[in-house]
Amino acid sequence: MPPMDEAEIHAILSRIILSGRLPGRTKLPEMRLAERFGVSRERIRKVLHRLGHERLIDVVKNRGAFTVAPDLSEIRTVFEARRILEGGIAAHLADGLTDTGLLRLRDHVEREAEALRSGDRATWLELSAAFHVLLAELTENPIIVQQARELVGRTTMLATFFESATGSQCGCDEHRAVFRALAAGERGRAVRAMASHLAQVETRLKPFVCSDAAPDLDGLIDEYVGETSAA
Ligand SMILES: [Zn+2]
Repeated sequence: MPPMDEAEIHAILSRIILSGRLPGRTKLPEMRLAERFGVSRERIRKVLHRLGHERLIDVVKNRGAFTVAPDLSEIRTVFEARRILEGGIAAHLADGLTDTGLLRLRDHVEREAEALRSGDRATWLELSAAFHVLLAELTENPIIVQQARELVGRTTMLATFFESATGSQCGCDEHRAVFRALAAGERGRAVRAMASHLAQVETRLKPFVCSDAAPDLDGLIDEYVGETSAA
């Protein structure tokens, strides 16, 4: 395959990791990935570090990069933090969202529904996580954005391990309920819609069992590289 740039390699590896098809603690070997993608080990290291910052993998000093294997107690802590932070974000936005902000939100909710309709699960998962980051961005407070990004990243990672095979992470209808409450400027309703949404996301997380027949890392790279170049 032709050499890829860091963004392309990052996109492919994110998709593989977020597909939940690699078992926890799978090593992501720098050397082998460098050969597969036809780039230097430094390039691969940069991509792996970025994935580590996004909490999609664990990067362990002197040992390398691994897919994560989170424990169930982490779910409670992460969701409690999200309810506190995102309830506050919803309250804040209900009091003064601009027309531009509302348009961005509406557009986003529509794109989520479209991805779900067309069966594009990877895009839909990305968009549903991005909805929460977008709400944080609309506060125009960089500290809130940073916290939201980290918590959403951790949830996405947890979802790949604890999501039921058929279940969804974020319900489009639930996002729409948050959007409508914000559009109406109804603070109490917006906070309740967000709390109810996050509670439902948490409830939907169940232990996810990887199929024994799942392809290995090389097989998944072949599959996802093919998908990317066909798109
Ligand atoms: Zn959501």
